[in-house]
This record gives sequence, C-alpha cells and structure tokens, in this order.
Amino acid sequence: TFITFEGIDGSGKSTQARLLADHLRNAGRDVVLTREPGGSAGAEEIRSLVLQGDPDRWSAETEILLFTAARRDHLEKTIQPAVEAGQIVICDRFADSTRLYQGITRGDLRGVVDQLHSLMIGREPDLTVIIDMDPTTGLSRAKGREGTEERFEDFGIALQQRMRAGFLALAQEFPDRCVVIDGDRDIDAVAADVAALVEKRLA
Ligand code: C5P
Repeated sequence: TFITFEGIDGSGKSTQARLLADHLRNAGRDVVLTREPGGSAGAEEIRSLVLQGDPDRWSAETEILLFTAARRDHLEKTIQPAVEAGQIVICDRFADSTRLYQGITRGDLRGVVDQLHSLMIGREPDLTVIIDMDPTTGLSRAKGREGTEERFEDFGIALQQRMRAGFLALAQEFPDRCVVIDGDRDIDAVAADVAALVEKRLA
C-alpha cells in the first residue's frame, strides 16, 4: 500500500505522516516512512541541487526534469521494493506537489509535468491525504521552522492561496485516491481522523 501526504507549506503534513507511521507501527504494521524530494540516496542528492543555492540556477523545465529524476530513483530504490515486500509506504509529498509547484509557479507547465509523469513514473498512490490549511496559518508555521531549506518561502500568501486551491482541485480531479482533511485543528484531532481513514482503507 502506497500512501502520500500533500498540502501547502506549514500544513502539518510531515508531522501527520510521522504520526500515522507511529500509529501503524504500534498496531504491528510494517511501515516505510519516506519523503520527496528525496527518499533514496540519489534523490536526496538531487534534493540539495534543487532546494539549496540560487533559486534561478535551473530553468523551470530543468527543474521539472530534476524532480522527475529524483522521483524515478525514489520509486525504483525505495517505494517499489517496499510495496512489493508488502510494506506500507508513507510518503511526505509525491507527484501532486510537482503538478502544483512545478506545474504552475513558474509558468503553465502542468502538461509537461503530466507527460513526464506518464513516461517515467506512471504510478499513483493508493491513497493521498491532503491536509487542508488556511495559508496564513500555514505560512507563519512554515516560517517559524528552523533549519529548513526554504528556497520557496518568499512565495508569499498569494501563492499559498493558489496552492491551497490547487490541492483542493487535485482532490476533485483524483477523487478515488484523494481525501481532504481539515488541518486547522489540534494535531491529535487531525491524526485521529487520518488514522481512522487509513484503517478503513486497509481493512
Ligand atoms: O515538504 P517540504 O517542506 O520538505 O518541501 C521543501 C520545499 O520544497 C517547500 O518549500 C516546497 O514548497 C518545495 N517543493 C517544491 N516542489 C516540490 C516539492 C517541494 O517546490 N515538488
């Protein structure tokens, strides 16, 4: 089973991914918790190429290629082997993030993202949990974090609004696998909803 978490910066999706992994492990399940960009040795190297340093180093198109290359390596080396071994893979961000961040922030490139996806990835999650969050709250959370590589943090509130709308639109585009959870509540309440949702899907 392959589960992804998506949402705007500061939505709490990474925390929720970790709490779900803890919950399932406590229930005796075999879980692999991973993230994008990254999640395999090669993809983590690509992550630092993309997220650190000069934001204008790569053109929008090259950036899509780098994210797709990272995802391909992550899929080959981490996700696919674990799913085949019967493990539950929980991934913090996946292709939906690229559909939005690379697909709309630097031009209208969703078509390019989709073509590369079908050519090189061709795999959707079984379940995508979208943590929905007011962008103002999300942004202040994201900015309050220490030690992150926030090359995108100066996107500001207008872009966060577009991203939020984008994630909600993706939920409608892929209704079979996407579930929107209200992330504007305390962490435990959100985690309980996520756990109940996943238990139902796994049953
Ligand atoms: O999820 P995480 O906080 O680790 O993401 C790191 C940064 O990379 C975020 O600022 C996010 O907006 C950005 N990102 C991106 N395109 C992706 C994935 C993440 O611009 N496909």
